[in-house]
Parts: sequence; structure tokens; C-alpha cells
Amino acid sequence: MTHQLPSLPFKANDLAPAISETTVGFHYGKHHQAYLNNLNNLIPGTPYENMPLTEIIVKAPAGPVFNNAAQVFNHTFYFDQFKPSVEAKKRPENELLKALEKHFGSFEKFIEEFSGVAATVFGSGWAWLVVEKDRSLAITKESNAGCPLTHGQKPLLTCDVWEHAYYLDYQNRRPDYIKAFWAILDWEVIENRFVE
Ligand code: MN
Repeated sequence: MTHQLPSLPFKANDLAPAISETTVGFHYGKHHQAYLNNLNNLIPGTPYENMPLTEIIVKAPAGPVFNNAAQVFNHTFYFDQFKPSVEAKKRPENELLKALEKHFGSFEKFIEEFSGVAATVFGSGWAWLVVEKDRSLAITKESNAGCPLTHGQKPLLTCDVWEHAYYLDYQNRRPDYIKAFWAILDWEVIENRFVE
């Protein structure tokens, strides 16, 4: 089975100025594609050859197969949640809003807490909003290719804080990237993930 690079739900220049066309070009066209190519090169002749991506992530031990499979999943999950700022749903409603209010106090407090976590991931990694096994919501940090699926968590939202996600647009100013991230995040996608 050959894994395929999913198409983006937006055009490369749709996310500017939050994320430039240049960054989308490198991040999706080079980094995401490279993780995918690496995975497809690593798995022939292994037990992972015909496994769905999510199964590889939970079964592969730490190492190149896990790293590339998880990075393929993480990047698809990341890109799928964006829309041009004018089209993105800016606030969640209904069940997801209630859950965020229950666990974080308010939507605004959630944004503040998530932004703080994303800003303080040390080195390369990801910030996630997840549903825990007990159905509570949590904000988590993962280093490198870390992925909530390996902890039995259901991911809802992620922010890639590897430098390649923001350095061309923001250089060292990761908090500015995180602030702009909210303008293109489509809460309709997150609501759909929550009720799935
Ligand atoms: Mn990335």
C-alpha cells in the first residue's frame, strides 16, 4: 500500500498573511511530502506495509517508521483545520463550546491556555487539544513527531510549532505565529471532529 499526500482544503495563498504561500509551499510541498516519501520507502517488506496509517502509529516502536507515519498524520490533521480568514468559523458553538467552557472556564481562557502551551513547547513539537479516555478535554504538548493516538487520546486541534511551520514568516517570533493561527482556524472542522 502506498500512502498518498492528501490535497489541501485551501489554495497555497489562501492563508496569508497568517501563513504565507511560501511557507505553505515548503511546509506541505517539501516537509509533508518528505515524511510521506520516507514512510513509503521504509515500509515495503515490513509488517507495516499494508497497515492503515493510524495503526502504524500505535504499533510502530520509536524510530523512523513511527516518526514518519506520525508526521504524515500530524501534518494532514494540521492542514485540514484551516480556511481563509474570511471563511473560517471563528468560534465554536453547541457541545464543543460547552465542553471548552466546562474544562477551561471560557472560550477565551482556552485560547489563552492553548497559546501558552504552544509557545512553551521546548524545541520542535506540537500543541494539541484532545479528548481523554474519560471524555475530559486536555491541552497537551508533544515533542518531535509525538501524536495523541499513541496515548489513546482523540485529537481535536493541533498547532505545529516546529520552526519550519513559522520561521519564514515570523523568524523567532513563535508567539506571533500562534496569535495569527487563530484567524485561519476553522472551528467548524474542530466541531465535526468533536462529534464524530
Ligand atoms: Mn511541520
